[in-house]
Amino acid sequence: MAELELKHVFKDYKMENKSKFTALTDINISFEKGELVSIVGESGSGKSTLMNLIGGLDSDYQGIINIDGKDLKSFKDKQLDDYRKKKIGFVFQSFNLIPHLSVLGNVSIALTLSNVKESVKNAKAIEILTKLGLKEHIKKKPTQLSGGQKQRVAIARALINDPDIILADEPTGALDSDTTLQILDILKDIADTQNKLVIMVTHSEKVAKISSRIVEIADGKIVRDELKKDYVKNKPNPNLILSTNEKINDTKNNDENEQISGTKKTKAKKAKEGHLTFLSALKLSFHNMWASKTKNFLMAIGVSISLIALILMLSFGSGLTGYINDLAQDYTNPNYVTISKSGKDKDGNDLEGNTGFLPQMFEEAEVNEISNELNTYLESKNEDFRIITEGENKNLTYGFSMPTIGAGTILYTPPETGDGGEVTPPTPQMILYTYTTPPYYTEDNLIAGEMSGENEIMLSSAAIEYFGYETAEEVIENDTHVTLNINFTIDGTEIKITKEVRVSAIIDVSVFSSMMVMYLDYDFLNDCVVEAQNNEGILPTGLKPSLLFINTGDERITDLINGYIKTNRKDLSGSVEEQLASMFSEMMSTFSIALAIISGISLIVALIMILVVLYMSVSERTKEIGVLKSIGARKKDIKLIFSTESLLIGVLSGLTGIVCSLILGGILSLVFKVLIGFAPIAMMWYYFFIALGLSVIISVLAGLYPASKAAKLDPVESLRHE
Ligand code: ADP
Ligand code: MG
Repeated sequence: MAELELKHVFKDYKMENKSKFTALTDINISFEKGELVSIVGESGSGKSTLMNLIGGLDSDYQGIINIDGKDLKSFKDKQLDDYRKKKIGFVFQSFNLIPHLSVLGNVSIALTLSNVKESVKNAKAIEILTKLGLKEHIKKKPTQLSGGQKQRVAIARALINDPDIILADEPTGALDSDTTLQILDILKDIADTQNKLVIMVTHSEKVAKISSRIVEIADGKIVRDELKKDYVKNKPNPNLILSTNEKINDTKNNDENEQISGTKKTKAKKAKEGHLTFLSALKLSFHNMWASKTKNFLMAIGVSISLIALILMLSFGSGLTGYINDLAQDYTNPNYVTISKSGKDKDGNDLEGNTGFLPQMFEEAEVNEISNELNTYLESKNEDFRIITEGENKNLTYGFSMPTIGAGTILYTPPETGDGGEVTPPTPQMILYTYTTPPYYTEDNLIAGEMSGENEIMLSSAAIEYFGYETAEEVIENDTHVTLNINFTIDGTEIKITKEVRVSAIIDVSVFSSMMVMYLDYDFLNDCVVEAQNNEGILPTGLKPSLLFINTGDERITDLINGYIKTNRKDLSGSVEEQLASMFSEMMSTFSIALAIISGISLIVALIMILVVLYMSVSERTKEIGVLKSIGARKKDIKLIFSTESLLIGVLSGLTGIVCSLILGGILSLVFKVLIGFAPIAMMWYYFFIALGLSVIISVLAGLYPASKAAKLDPVESLRHE
């Protein structure tokens, strides 16, 4: 039985205009092991077409090609992959080495596709490379080699799986005459001493002369088939070139023959037979990415921008939340219940016109109703504590808070120095928050000065700088006065307060250390309101509370009342934390929707960018894909190589994003600290995982299409690709 037999083989190329071009016409020929066959013929005569058919790269033909008596047409995809991987070794005119792999990597890649152990694989590759005289060059990249060396690497790659047939398409076409002889020697030796069938295409009759058989093709037909009687076989020379190839593993040779002949045993053996592993694919991708590191790094930066935006956004959100909580802490005491209106109705629906900012005030009737309801509840719970709204023992007091940015200012006019120096014109300073002093506020909350009373206010430490002093004490010692301006609305009428007041204390408001926060006495603010109402000629109703403080004197009672309000009075809020949190979440929800849309869009842009880059990478590497297919890479393997590459891009982008966010976050924190005294940025460790996860997901998604396109490329066309 002939090693290789072609019977009535026809090959038509279908042209774009649906006509066909017949490249091979009725080819009948057979080859034996140990032959060194030269295929000659003019350019375009069909030599490469014939090689591609024999090599299993092109299955679109008519007629029969038998390998060891088995029809190539009957091979399934898997068998065909195996056939290319183990039965055939390809050598090309243009070497077709993979540029980003080392010499060693180029040779061992065929074994990588079979998941051969690293050490075995390398030993095997080094052995063959050594025999081909390339021992010193194994670490080099293909571009660092001469043409002859490149072709020897290609031969080593073709030999590593110990194939029975070597197909060399114009292997010396790109080499000078000296190197040509070297390569021919090697091919001859492979045929002679290893008893392999070597079929090479050549243009040169001189080259053809050294072979054992010359087959000439013209216009797709065999016109000459000449056996050289005088062919002298090389004697086995272990020093020169490959002696008997040691088997990669002991099952291999049987396995391969069985696979080709398709016996039942094959399946059991095939289970053992390895394929490209994820780890090897990862390594290959890493090599490739490293080869174009600038491009990949720039892309990673591009992708990471969306991740940076995301991380900073999240950090900003949680930073602000933390800050609001701190703020609430400054204004709470466990022995007090602080009731305010929640801006919702009793069922928890938002009230119309509630902005969450303006103070919502209580009427006296409401206060009584609330305390009665709470007292009934406390009674039902067998608690002794009762809310008392009036008289000597009253434990419910009024408070007012106005978190309305821009509703108030203070204006400080520096005292005349008398030295005739220039006086800086006073600029009003915005008050960020106006509070009436809570009942539990003590001297401990003051940095300097005394609790404020009539015609007095207390300010946060930002005031020190505003007044041009160094310390809080200086502000007090110098008897600093300011003009206070606040505007707000009570029962639909605007109250305008303008009053000369003394700064009685600088207060310790941790989060607001650098912002102007004003505390004043409730009764004093009430007087101011009455005065303003009188000035306007309207009924002097006075201030209405927006906060009700209940001094429970007991944390347990505080919790009890807070719990009741939370479940039964959705229209109220039991604590400042809750009030602030709900106000804040309302503010943030619109904000975060906008930010989510922005980061969503930027992630889509990133996805498209990765897709484009990977898509371009596939067309850049078309030839490489062809080479991989010619050495037996399955569709799955190609897909895996490109998918792992997109995975790596995802990881790289994710890491870049994380590093950049850390740096940017640090810079932003500093800037905020300098500008407003605190940094509303809190990076949580899990944001980094979110960013990394998202980056990997979008990259892998973006890689799906290019990877499947790469897998589907036609091997013959890919190899023809320039
Ligand atoms: P050789 O290797 O002998 O130079 P080829 O086998 O490459 O020739 O090509 C044989 C003929 O088939 C040529 O005329 C060539 O133009 C044609 N041919 C090769 N590939 C294709 C293809 N994909 N589509 C159409 N015609 C093709
Ligand atoms: Mg050709």
